[in-house]
Amino acid sequence: MSGIRPTGFLHLGNYFGALQNYVRMQDEYDCYFMVADWHSLTTHPDTKELRSSVLRVLAENIAAGIDPERACLYLQSQIPEIAELYLLLNMLAYKGELEKTNTFKEKVRLQPENVNAGLLTYPVLQAADIMIHRAKYVPVGKDQEQHLEMARNFAQRFNHRYGELFPEPAAFNFGKELVKVPSLDGAGKMSKSENQYATLYLADNDDMIRKKVMKAKTDTGPIKENSEIPETVHNLFLIMSLVTGKDVVMHYEEEHKKGAIRYADMKKQLAEDMVKFITPIREKAESIYHDEKYLKQVVEKGREKAGKSAGETIRLAREIIRLKYF
Ligand code: AMP
Repeated sequence: MSGIRPTGFLHLGNYFGALQNYVRMQDEYDCYFMVADWHSLTTHPDTKELRSSVLRVLAENIAAGIDPERACLYLQSQIPEIAELYLLLNMLAYKGELEKTNTFKEKVRLQPENVNAGLLTYPVLQAADIMIHRAKYVPVGKDQEQHLEMARNFAQRFNHRYGELFPEPAAFNFGKELVKVPSLDGAGKMSKSENQYATLYLADNDDMIRKKVMKAKTDTGPIKENSEIPETVHNLFLIMSLVTGKDVVMHYEEEHKKGAIRYADMKKQLAEDMVKFITPIREKAESIYHDEKYLKQVVEKGREKAGKSAGETIRLAREIIRLKYF
């Protein structure tokens, strides 16, 4: 189980941190993927844009390779059982631990005028999202590690207090390290909300991709033989390795070692490989986005399957807590 917020266009971090694994998992696992529309309300977006954002995220998920016939693709707000489980889990979540969460502290820094309770209890709702399907594996990027640890704690506390019901969910990347796609300006990760010029979106057109890559931060100092790779350049190599063949990446790494690297050439190569990677996803997403009849069918199918799974979990949760009187 996993989810993505409809808070803007999806980017390379969403793709390599999450979507890529969703696509691989749908062949081997019983998968539930949702558009996390409730979660997006924590930052008070203009809800006039919500519908188009949700349809866009759905289209981008499908364009990236999710097959709604195999994986269950649904909208969070259409499954009210999630809200009930969230309420039950809130009794097992403590103010102190929620306040210490990194993403909460980050949001307090970014929007000090809007530190609402939904923001504080975000990890509880996220735990409910996962636990509502009694899911074990959660394909997410590295930024979600702490939330997953909290979800495991909430599952353990529930099982301990009321009786065994939930598996302990774990972040999942096919046995490999979780991914963090860095931003192009050398500061932090790519994200939907921070510096838009340092983030590559799956909806960016070819010119925009080229412009962003050519502007990426490299190194200002002179390059000598065997000089240390600064973080900005290391990040660029990392991004390159996502879309460029291994031998080409190695060639530029060798060039750096020799002190002969020309960053402009490297960035041109990266820009062209990035265009080749993003263009087919963008074009496919664009056409799916305009096919509302199809998207409606996808969502209805998703609602039915996710609703069934969620209904069964809530029935068991009520029973095990003894919220059942006759
Ligand atoms: P969000 O966009 O915050 O709703 O995140 C959706 C998914 O994308 C989550 O699984 C995140 O871990 C993942 N994700 C977001 N940004 C990045 C990034 N820069 N690198 C890797 N994964 C990311």
